[in-house]
Amino acid sequence: MRRTIDRERILFFWPTFPARFHAPTRGRIALVGVGGNLGPVLRRFKKLATILASHPRVRLLATAPILRNPPFGYRDQPDFFNTLFLVQTSLPPRRLLHFLLWLERRFKRERPFPNAPRTLDLDIIFYEECHVDEPKLTIPHPHWMERESVIIPLRYLGEIG
Ligand code: ADP
Ligand code: MG
Repeated sequence: MRRTIDRERILFFWPTFPARFHAPTRGRIALVGVGGNLGPVLRRFKKLATILASHPRVRLLATAPILRNPPFGYRDQPDFFNTLFLVQTSLPPRRLLHFLLWLERRFKRERPFPNAPRTLDLDIIFYEECHVDEPKLTIPHPHWMERESVIIPLRYLGEIG
């Protein structure tokens, strides 16, 4: 199913997007922004959910639907697809970031210039109620509340059916 938001934005509801996986148990709750606009992005998101679902220190609690939306910053590139993963983890924030950056590399992420097209972008939006302000890590993610790629999928996080 798809829900057209406007001429440029479409929200896709697909098997496992959105869905609820595990119930929360032990560990910290984090919200991870998932994006990409190169190659078979949707297949990549599914594969990523499978990888996360079997990681010993990161469990996938829920996903959101997938928003197709225009690029910003550098406009001359394909539309983006964005979703959210709610996870529970025993990794502290910096180690979670390193794990996410490792996953990006695994999916051949390159960084030729800021806002460049990308196979996979994984951002920590929230980590519990933590505030982190370090050169390489800012939590909550700056400007998340202005990003439609976050706030639109967030409304449907973990919705079933
Ligand atoms: P963007 O996501 O803004 O397009 P990148 O994905 O290229 O930028 O990330 C560049 C750097 O941003 C990462 O190497 C990481 O150190 C830093 N960063 C700072 N805060 C966060 C965060 N909350 N989540 C992910 N990366 C972050
Ligand atoms: Mg990023």
